[in-house]
Amino acid sequence: MRYISTRGQAPVLNFSEAMMTGLARDGGLYVPEVVPALSKAEIAAMAGLPYEEIAFRVMRPYLGSTFTDAEFKGLLAKAYAGFGHAARAPLVQLGPNHFLLELFHGPTLAFKDFAMQLIGQMMQAALAKTGERVTIVGATSGDTGSAAMEAFRGLANVDLFILYPHGRVSDVQRRQMTTPSEANVYALAMDGDFDDCQARVKDMFNDFAFRDGVRLAGVNSINWARVLAQVVYYFSAAVSLGAPDRAVSFTVPTGNFGDIFAGYIARKMGLPIDQLVIATNQNDILDRAMKTGDYAQNGVTASISPSMDIQVSSNFERALFDAYGRDGAAVSALMEELKSGGFHISQGAMGMLREAFASGRCSEEETTATIQRAFAQTGEILCPHSAVGVKVAEEHLGEAPMITLATAHPAKFPDAVEAAMGTRPQLPPRMADLFTRPERVTRVPNDLGALQALIRERIAR
Ligand SMILES: *Cc1c(COP(=O)(O)O)cnc(C)c1O
Repeated sequence: MRYISTRGQAPVLNFSEAMMTGLARDGGLYVPEVVPALSKAEIAAMAGLPYEEIAFRVMRPYLGSTFTDAEFKGLLAKAYAGFGHAARAPLVQLGPNHFLLELFHGPTLAFKDFAMQLIGQMMQAALAKTGERVTIVGATSGDTGSAAMEAFRGLANVDLFILYPHGRVSDVQRRQMTTPSEANVYALAMDGDFDDCQARVKDMFNDFAFRDGVRLAGVNSINWARVLAQVVYYFSAAVSLGAPDRAVSFTVPTGNFGDIFAGYIARKMGLPIDQLVIATNQNDILDRAMKTGDYAQNGVTASISPSMDIQVSSNFERALFDAYGRDGAAVSALMEELKSGGFHISQGAMGMLREAFASGRCSEEETTATIQRAFAQTGEILCPHSAVGVKVAEEHLGEAPMITLATAHPAKFPDAVEAAMGTRPQLPPRMADLFTRPERVTRVPNDLGALQALIRERIAR
């Protein structure tokens, strides 16, 4: 399996290289040259299997010779052993034809654990074969960083630095990043917002001397291996509800477009998905783009679903690449225009995008009202992100069963949930001591040179 960049100017890589690299050297994102298809019989045979076995069957065609089958099975077993639910991604029912896919039973209570736990295991195993070390730098609005700290702490061949916007993550998210005590993981609280953090990480990747000097690797949501790991639960959920004989729909609370793009890949692999619905909060660049064809930045407004507070949606570039007939030059030109605020999507490309995705937006008031109503009607306590999904899903109910992705546990965003319901959601017992563990964090300025100096010094230890 070969991986190519959405901008057409970076070297073609194998799976292991694409996983280590993250962002391509031409600024683009890696995608598989060809998406492998699974037959109807292969999909049907997944029904009733353990999550790890479905993961093996879905992901195996993408890995090339990176791992033997036995090695890969071992990594999957380790990655999901720390989950608090035997099904890993259980489905619960919300209404006659509406289901919730609970993706929050991992160690940091958000869906990002599905990809991050596995990429941690895969990177360590690939590095151990060659004896190399890498430095991972990531930006987070909260959930990516905590999932990465949890996945990489204690791994022998990796140093991990996570930049988060100081004062702008929830207490639970912050503590999940600042309480791991292993010496190879560092939480950095940066002055600025999430986009500033993400911009500094991009700067580091674009500084090739630094990038090569510290052997920089990326685990942000643009990393292909993360997208791939998320394809799995689309299969596990769909076969539970009758796929491939029956089509299902999904609604996905969306920020950087990684999670929903995994659904798009599942469909390309042959999973019968009827609607794939993008759900945004008030930071609705994707919903506006789908409706108007204009992808136009208009700033970020902090919301009660902060993990979806984005100004630009990085993985959308992968969908644009397909929508523009895999023309890297066309994608490069759009991304150049984006630097001055936005771009117009051609009519042909919009046709393809509207064929693939539906969309909707949910205001702050609607988010709160949905948390209240879902609890009253079903007893399910939704986190604000999942509530955005449920509200938008309800506007798209049809014949196919609708599956809304519940992206985080309500206790990860207790203030918003308490404001809606009047009671404070409890952390699962296995995490009850989070607020008594000591914190370890370094406050850093929004300054590339200072950040690079700090990273060089820490990894030289
Ligand atoms: C990251 C995240 C999202 C957005 O996912 P994308 O893949 O960036 O679209 C939604 N909800 C929660 C809780 C998240 O952590």
